[in-house]
Amino acid sequence: MMTLSAQLRARLGERADAVALLWEGEVLTYADLDAWSAALAGELRDAGIRPGDRVAVGVANSPVLVAAVLAVLRSGAVLVPLNPSAPVADAAYAIEHSGAALVLLGGEECERWDSLEAPIRRLTDARAVDDDRSWFDAGAADPALLVYTSGTTGKPKGAVLSHAALGTNLATVAEAWRWTAADRLLLTLPCFHLHGLALGILGSLAAGASVALQPRFVAEDVPELLARHRCTLFFGVPTMYNRLIQLSDGEIERIPAMRLWVSGSAPLTTATFEEFRRRFGFAILERFGMSEGGFMIATPYHGERRPGVVGFALPGVEIRIADPDSAGATVVDVADGEPGEILIRGPNLFSGYWRDAEATARAYRGDYFRSGDLALREPDGQIRIVGRLSVDIIKCRGFKISAIEIENALQTHPGVAEVAVVGVPHADLGEQIVAVVTPATDAAADLPAVLVDYARSTLARHKVPGRIELMSEIPRTGPGKFKKRALIERFSA
Ligand code: AMP
Repeated sequence: MMTLSAQLRARLGERADAVALLWEGEVLTYADLDAWSAALAGELRDAGIRPGDRVAVGVANSPVLVAAVLAVLRSGAVLVPLNPSAPVADAAYAIEHSGAALVLLGGEECERWDSLEAPIRRLTDARAVDDDRSWFDAGAADPALLVYTSGTTGKPKGAVLSHAALGTNLATVAEAWRWTAADRLLLTLPCFHLHGLALGILGSLAAGASVALQPRFVAEDVPELLARHRCTLFFGVPTMYNRLIQLSDGEIERIPAMRLWVSGSAPLTTATFEEFRRRFGFAILERFGMSEGGFMIATPYHGERRPGVVGFALPGVEIRIADPDSAGATVVDVADGEPGEILIRGPNLFSGYWRDAEATARAYRGDYFRSGDLALREPDGQIRIVGRLSVDIIKCRGFKISAIEIENALQTHPGVAEVAVVGVPHADLGEQIVAVVTPATDAAADLPAVLVDYARSTLARHKVPGRIELMSEIPRTGPGKFKKRALIERFSA
């Protein structure tokens, strides 16, 4: 199996004259990306970056982001993607924890994040060119990506993905979805998350295909963009599909080249699947994945795609549905049709959490990775997700969010005596972030509005609660433990 860097290097060489990237009227070929990323890799080397060093990249969707990603990988450094619109404290945590030797930023982030205590390099659109097209010859186990992902604690963990894990996983997905150089992806996902970055950008380039990259998702623009760029693929989260089915018939033009719509990162409802099929004439392919293992389960490319299930394990990925409460390292399978935890083994898995051997050990049962997701196997073998082990993980708009992190942030407000944060089922967002607050005695009368403003000033946009509910007392199961399942039920209505 070819490593990620070997695949990218081969495509950049072979596909020189082919279109790689479309962006606001600009067209970049593989040769353009090769020359630009080679020049940036040269700058990294000149700045003292060596293979294995971590380089953080906080650049919004743009051609310079793609060039920077390729530059870091070709230099043999480890890419640490940062959410460019996150508060400076989030970036600072990932930079400090990863020990990033350098931070590459785009224009706007540079000004907002100028308090960062790390060496920063500001990238511009000026496309430098370098004749030195060398690539560091990354080994299979060498880390390529270090992605920070929210967990059940207040602080995100850094999942390390090797060149072999990503190379294997992207090749498996390409094969499963018949992804070839003839394809063009409309990419509207944010590219600091594995979905947009690994599947969208790296997946397209590894397949020798092209990407029509957008700054963000705007439902109304999608039909016209698909038609104008003759896109064949679209990857989205369920919230995007919820918005697409709201478009009027007039807005859904004929989309001549499209062949595959994929949804992932959160559960796609049967209602959305059916309405999309009725309006757009396509059965969405659903896939399940996570930062720690890439893309692992998917509904069939050929054959019936049924709503409500995430499909079969992709080739090479082993999935067990196991009793989450069994003790020790032995995997105890549940009977088919019974809910259990999804356990994963395969070459796609991450290498562990960065500088956190304890969290890594906790994440495994024997040599299987514990996803934390509850699922069951249907009679035909397809997997249906039925829930999550932890109430402290929220999936809103496809983002994985830690309830504890939001509680910690809101707890610092003087108007808050106590706060419990939960994810409540929501037709558009998947789950809505609801903060249940017991006000301090001298809290302001407009506390909910005040807290939303406060959250906006301290948390990344996607972590800001959509609702604040006041309660004179939050029910508990015992000291320090809120009855979160009861809260979810109460506020679901
Ligand atoms: P992340 O690491 O941010 O990609 O989040 C991974 C988590 O997203 C998984 O553990 C699941 O809880 C959830 N997830 C991803 N894909 C799906 C899907 N197709 N259906 C339901 N949940 C999903």
